[in-house]
Amino acid sequence: MKNHHQRLIKELELTKADRGIRLKKTKKLIKKKVYAIDPHVHSKYSTDGVGEILRFSDVAKLAGLDFLFITDHFSRKQKEETDKIDNLSWGQEPGIWPHHIGVLKGSKLLRYKKELIDFDIKADYNTARQISPFVFLPHPTGFYPKAVYNKHQLDSIWELGDDFPMEVINAAGKLSRGWDEFNAKNIIYWDKLLSAKKKIQPLAGSDTHLPEGVGLVFTGVYCSKLNDDCLISAMKAGNCFASETSILNLTCKGKPMGSTIKAKCGTKIDLEITIADSAGLKEARIVTTNGRVVKKINLEGKTFINAKIPLKISSKTLYYRLESVASDDMRGFSSPIYILPQP
Ligand SMILES: [Zn+2]
Ligand SMILES: [Zn+2]
Repeated sequence: MKNHHQRLIKELELTKADRGIRLKKTKKLIKKKVYAIDPHVHSKYSTDGVGEILRFSDVAKLAGLDFLFITDHFSRKQKEETDKIDNLSWGQEPGIWPHHIGVLKGSKLLRYKKELIDFDIKADYNTARQISPFVFLPHPTGFYPKAVYNKHQLDSIWELGDDFPMEVINAAGKLSRGWDEFNAKNIIYWDKLLSAKKKIQPLAGSDTHLPEGVGLVFTGVYCSKLNDDCLISAMKAGNCFASETSILNLTCKGKPMGSTIKAKCGTKIDLEITIADSAGLKEARIVTTNGRVVKKINLEGKTFINAKIPLKISSKTLYYRLESVASDDMRGFSSPIYILPQP
């Protein structure tokens, strides 16, 4: 049994190393500084997790990831260790009804029965926001393999406010790839929220409960320095994307993802799109209000595209976002550019 276990770990390491090589090559195709991070990881300090903190850091490096937040359930013990390791920081993920809460950094531990007593999602999120600079919604529509969220759970997302980060890709329970039918539902839900004029910053979290799950998905963040505060402020501003393997960027009039642009109805604006994937790309799509695809570009296996796309503004144009499909079907989703159509 021990040999079997070691062999399995070795083979998982090899697949992580393949991903790492792919991501490092992809980064070389992009001139801008971008970091691949995971905001949602569980260690041995979660009752349902295993693995030493140092091992998470090692697997992250192997998989080409720059930074991890160790977000254990009801524990702050991880912080003592992440404080000593450069590419790690800490967070928490209290599992509550009707939704979990993802918290990065924070001044104290969120508890199940003390601070979070009323199971009122709005109140619980506000409590989290008081102690942390970054509070996000993990797996909004449920998670692999069987946690399918019901109507009450889905409806409660609307109580979280008009501007919050949310995982559009969550890879809980996965070891081969992150994208699945839960994530496809997240994207549909994301478009609903965006179409209701909410600003929702996209994240991808592995939600892994063992070190070997790190690297299946990542949140790409455009910021100048690799530290938790810098990453958090860039993700809050929406200068980020959720991805399995590709690197994406979307700008308009020189403004980064997450920006709001005023545009006159009937005129055209140029969106600048950039996508890279060293293993090749199949398709790029630009998506607008109600999840409507306004532009599809066949990328025919190219590893890089940078293009300006002129798009006509109507009174219904509320946002544009970019999504990509790699040659092997790996998915990527940019943060939106928000549009304020002017009459
Ligand atoms: Zn868990
Ligand atoms: Zn989790």
